[in-house]
Amino acid sequence: MPLSCSSPHRIGVVIEAPQHSGLWGALDYLCDQALPPGTLVRVPLGRRVVTGVVWRGADECVPEDVPEAVTLKAVTEVLEGLPPLPASWRQLVKFASAYYQRSLGEMALMVLPPELRQLDAVQWARRLKSLDKAVAPPAPPKRKRAKDQAGGEAEASPLPEAAATPVASQVVLPELTDQQRTALDVLTQPADKPFLLWGSTGSGKTEVYLRQAQRALDEGRQVLMMVPEINLTPQLEARVAERFAGRRIVSLHSGLTPAQRLRNWLMAHYGHADLILGTRLSVFTPLPRLGLIVVDEEHDPSYKQQDGARYSARDLAVYRARLEGVPVILGSATPSLESWYNALPEAEGGAGRYVRLAMPARVGDGDMPAVRVLDLSRVPKGTMGQEPPPLALELQDAIALRVEYKEQSLVLLNRRGYAPVLHCSDCGWKSGCPHCSAWRVFHKVDRTLRCHHCGFSERVPRACPDCGNTDIHPVGRGTERLEEQLIEAFPQARVGRIDADVTRHKGALEARLADVHAGEVDVLVGTQMVAKGHDFRRITLVAAVNPDAALFASDFRAAERQFALLLQAAGRAGRDADVAGHSEMWVQTWHPTHPLYQALRRYDYADFAAQQLKEREMAGLPPYASLAMLRAEGKTQEAAQAFLSEAVQAVQHLADELGSVTLYPAVPTPVQRVANVERAQLMIESPQRPALQRFLTQAQPIWLDVAQKNRRSGLIRWAVDVDPLSI
Ligand code: ADP
Ligand code: ZN
Ligand code: ZN
Repeated sequence: MPLSCSSPHRIGVVIEAPQHSGLWGALDYLCDQALPPGTLVRVPLGRRVVTGVVWRGADECVPEDVPEAVTLKAVTEVLEGLPPLPASWRQLVKFASAYYQRSLGEMALMVLPPELRQLDAVQWARRLKSLDKAVAPPAPPKRKRAKDQAGGEAEASPLPEAAATPVASQVVLPELTDQQRTALDVLTQPADKPFLLWGSTGSGKTEVYLRQAQRALDEGRQVLMMVPEINLTPQLEARVAERFAGRRIVSLHSGLTPAQRLRNWLMAHYGHADLILGTRLSVFTPLPRLGLIVVDEEHDPSYKQQDGARYSARDLAVYRARLEGVPVILGSATPSLESWYNALPEAEGGAGRYVRLAMPARVGDGDMPAVRVLDLSRVPKGTMGQEPPPLALELQDAIALRVEYKEQSLVLLNRRGYAPVLHCSDCGWKSGCPHCSAWRVFHKVDRTLRCHHCGFSERVPRACPDCGNTDIHPVGRGTERLEEQLIEAFPQARVGRIDADVTRHKGALEARLADVHAGEVDVLVGTQMVAKGHDFRRITLVAAVNPDAALFASDFRAAERQFALLLQAAGRAGRDADVAGHSEMWVQTWHPTHPLYQALRRYDYADFAAQQLKEREMAGLPPYASLAMLRAEGKTQEAAQAFLSEAVQAVQHLADELGSVTLYPAVPTPVQRVANVERAQLMIESPQRPALQRFLTQAQPIWLDVAQKNRRSGLIRWAVDVDPLSI
């Protein structure tokens, strides 16, 4: 690398330092090049050399409290050939790190492809060479970013070939429905607000995304289309690829190999890829020509990262769209109550921050399946020691009829395994996990007792470990057992199952889905995995056999999630207008009059949302308040709670000064012990988001101190979760 100046430059670099290190900002290094911000470098840290991102360039002012230049170390090497990460990317990372209370370096490095932060300069150069031509970096000369130049829009596209002409498309586009046309009309008008596309399942939302994407692509822009992890099916990829034949489409999700992920990310960053289809992690992809962001199934919990930096990709997508001045479409049949409230006009008691686009009717005017709420007290009870049959007689008859007519049924049970617990009727022994406060699930296929929390697995004992009784039996029912029972109940039917257990191996999910699409399954048993997204054409009956647990869960979002799941499951039936007329959604419940089922019966999301919003407002819960959760893990429950209590005491004065921040008592988490680690949490609430933010920012350094002091007394880990999804 050539020396551009006789004296070395002083730059600020962020590295992957966890929040607990107390290192929040950039570290200073010397470099003989004037590296621009966003450049990836390798820098010495203690005895290691780590990857970092230049955050403060040589020409930017140095903060006053940094060490004298003599004590600074030099940058080890630069990852050459990688265009600097743009200012918009750095701003997004900076916002995310501040909002979600993580260190800048952790956030910045975490959102890069894993390979990028592991390779040294030599390996990187080799890697670049091995990637095929499609990934060749854009030519370095006269490369200017629009952001750096006032009015430099014309040069925003770094590559002439970026907007490659697609081969003439052979696809025959469907005639738009009136609703789709109306939505698309609104979408053409410039709006500085996010759009909430609220459309029934099968109303043609995806078609709207695709049309809007087409517009952006035609303007030479890139499209970021985000979907929940589980929805990134080959079917969707194929549909997008077919629609945009000739365009460069890449996917970004955690299922890719590190090399694929790096390649696809580079394609996006270089501006080669036109459309990025990705899960939550794709929200951070640098896109020089970004023109549209779509967040499909925006209510889906998988948009929230659940460990490390707990960010919400949906919320960051909204922030990013505003930052980069591009439209964002959030789509769902059952929007999150936060988005719904944001899209509700002020006149209706909402925030009026989003534009709502409604598409209530299904394409082809197919009706949603008729909902049949079935009183479970009518299901015959099992005789002593025997499990009751899984289905009420009417439901069983209805499925038998489908089998006869060569139509498919989907039986939904959100619990995998054979039975959730084994039980000894002599002494009362149950198959608890020795490491967790949870039962171990009986899996019949390999005769194991498996803990779904820590993974601990053992062969099923021949006899009760406590009293030697050989008559130990499964209690309750998971998908594995339901499948077995349905095979028995419908001897003439082909019964299939899709859940996390049978789709563990690569390609297994695709194969099983293909069987369903090919009509080789009559009755499909599945968890929520099959309730979402799939465009099944022959299913005319969906049944939820045991959905009641959510009605009484301690988590205030349980009802919202359950409603979304049931409605989405219902949407799997009658997707062909031909069969929509006699499609049915069955719900077996002990609480047939519950308002959730009553709203479901009418497919009245708006009514359900209104009920929920009223409850949330009274209880001071989101979207009427902002929450954060302080979580702690300890060797003992006392240790975890002691830290939380001290943490509260140490910041109570901050909360008092701010006035509107409430700290709740520390409590054990719902599953209190996992893998021998005790967990506790406390909720922090404020009706004003900025107040909560200010509080958390000021509290963090204090909590760091408290944590240091608590290390010896058994505290293992702690973290702040902003906008927690589950409580
Ligand atoms: P959603 O995303 O709202 O569930 P999709 O966009 O997947 O709905 O549409 C459901 C089905 O209807 C798909 O098979 C799709 O190809 C088809 N479809 C969508 N829009 C139209 C239209 N305007 N005319 C005919 N078929 C359509
Ligand atoms: Zn026993
Ligand atoms: Zn366990």
